[in-house]
Amino acid sequence: MPDTASRPNDAARFDVAAVRDQFPILKEPSHGKPLAFLDSAASAQKPQAVIDAVNETYAHRYANVHRGVYELSERTSAAYEAVRGKTKSLINAADDDEIVFTSGTTDGINLVAQSWGRANLGPGDEVLITEMEHHSNIVPWQMLRDEKGIVLKVAPFDEDGVLIMEEFERLLSERTRLVAVAQVSNALGTILPLDKIIPMAHAAGALVLVDGAQGIPHLPTDVRAMGADFYAFSGHKLYGPTGTGALYGRGELLAELPPWKGGGDMILSVTFEKTEYAAPPHKFEAGTPNIAGTIGLGAAIDWFAALDHEGLAAHEADLLAYGTERLLEVPGVRLIGTAPDKAAVISFVLDYAHPHDVGTILDQQGVAVRTGHHCAQPVMDHFDVAATVRASFGAYSSRDDIDALIAALDEVRELFG
Ligand code: PMP
Repeated sequence: MPDTASRPNDAARFDVAAVRDQFPILKEPSHGKPLAFLDSAASAQKPQAVIDAVNETYAHRYANVHRGVYELSERTSAAYEAVRGKTKSLINAADDDEIVFTSGTTDGINLVAQSWGRANLGPGDEVLITEMEHHSNIVPWQMLRDEKGIVLKVAPFDEDGVLIMEEFERLLSERTRLVAVAQVSNALGTILPLDKIIPMAHAAGALVLVDGAQGIPHLPTDVRAMGADFYAFSGHKLYGPTGTGALYGRGELLAELPPWKGGGDMILSVTFEKTEYAAPPHKFEAGTPNIAGTIGLGAAIDWFAALDHEGLAAHEADLLAYGTERLLEVPGVRLIGTAPDKAAVISFVLDYAHPHDVGTILDQQGVAVRTGHHCAQPVMDHFDVAATVRASFGAYSSRDDIDALIAALDEVRELFG
């Protein structure tokens, strides 16, 4: 067994115990055992600061936003709108108005497909994605293909789960109008080389939409340095509430886009003959938003921004290295996704037990992992498996969680091996 004392210095600098202490749920036992939560890629747990922000909104500062002239509504509106600035700083957008609040990554990608895509794409226009995309970055483009006759092209990855750049380049053409690509694959953990992909896409005349769902909790994210035209992420994977998120769109792009949902709060004036729309971002935010959730997202951004990011990166790299090393000692294990650049995700299968059975037995030991196709069925098809077991990490994850996973896998071997 590797020596836990050998945790590298820069990782050891990161005070996991102090971080864990801020997450009440991590103190809850599961099946009478200490909880080893290894499913942060599906949704991260919430620190007390986020829970408090949501509670305090409902208890002390709650009213609908943008509408009331009374003090309470003005205070709620100010707290809600302040989150735009926090989000802007988090991803280094140029302006608060480039931040559209959404219910999450799926909502953001659908906004681009239904607003930009429907207005700008026609028969024969191409959207290029990769073989490792989440369903939420596949299905919206298929819907557009059926409606508009666009062509969906898919750049393949190799046996390690690395995007084959020659194929990506070959598939780019003057017909490519959009490249829609993940920052990090949720099923494989692969970090996509956006520093190569985005300049290549732009050189071909295409726009780029980055699905940041799995990237933003683990990688420094600067939409301007990266050159993204659109960037979508989910609050719940960034230690924030469910049903929150944002879509970044470059200011000039958002200014030209039509709205895709109609309703209250997105208009300047309405008569039965004609509606004048509000300016971005409000044009894209019809209806009463997730007010308390978005304020909670602001608390999550503050909490996340205050972490020691170099220490966090080293800590997560250590978990990935340690987890990979320990898993490779398990007889009959096959790792799914062995890219050299990975973030916080280890997917695997065992040759003697179905992933769902593995997940159920691990659960009995207090170990929470995700089993299934991870909303990335083409990835499963590539590796010819129906499902994998996925252990994924967050800032609060520890080597003890991995040790609990490995010990619980012994139980699996006793029953099935
Ligand atoms: N893209 C990726 C890479 C994801 O991992 C997920 C969530 N599993 C999504 C998109 C969709 O995110 P949400 O369900 O929060 O909209």
